[in-house]
Amino acid sequence: MTADDRAKQPETGLLIVYTGNGKGKTTAALGMCVRAVGYNWNVSIIQFVKGSWKYGELKGIKRLEPNIELHTVGEGFVGIVDDTKEFEEHRAAARKGVEFALETIHSRRHRLIILDELNVAAELGLVTDDEIEEILSARDSQQHLVITGRGARDWLIERADLVTEMREVKHPYQKGVLAQKGIDW
Ligand code: ATP
Ligand code: MG
Repeated sequence: MTADDRAKQPETGLLIVYTGNGKGKTTAALGMCVRAVGYNWNVSIIQFVKGSWKYGELKGIKRLEPNIELHTVGEGFVGIVDDTKEFEEHRAAARKGVEFALETIHSRRHRLIILDELNVAAELGLVTDDEIEEILSARDSQQHLVITGRGARDWLIERADLVTEMREVKHPYQKGVLAQKGIDW
């Protein structure tokens, strides 16, 4: 495809899913943010599982302000799902997260929106399929939406325009090498 062809084609917002057990889902989404900032787009990253952001990306994203904003809406991992009270608290936090994602998308201020670990929140039952549907239909034709996390719903994979499943071929963790600065955190 030539630059001329590209100029003729209308810009289309994509639904992108990064899933699978291999490393690189959040990294891939962050890479896309770097590209978006190159065009001076505004980007919003909404994190559904609190505490998953690491020092490196927090500081790195700071350097890309004001184009990139980062929000945390989750309440940490749900360990014991049969603990009803705890589950309800996580569910309430996730519901707020969905509301915030909807407001963000409806504001039309961002060309790229990342919902980091939303798949995990869905798998834990904290975010419902209906809520995800609502998020998907809130987009306008130009907004790109990226959803990351292991265990993406089958219907979401079906619906998405771009899906990459990270497959673990090797990971240093397997031979006891712990997470590395600048690579993992
Ligand atoms: P990353 O943030 O490095 O792109 P990810 O988004 O694909 O990883 P998550 O499921 O969000 O993976 O996992 C969060 C943490 O677990 C990260 O610190 C990541 O480095 C680490 N991790 C990811 N995949 C693996 C794996 N296959 N084995 C061990 N650790 C992993
Ligand atoms: Mg991740």
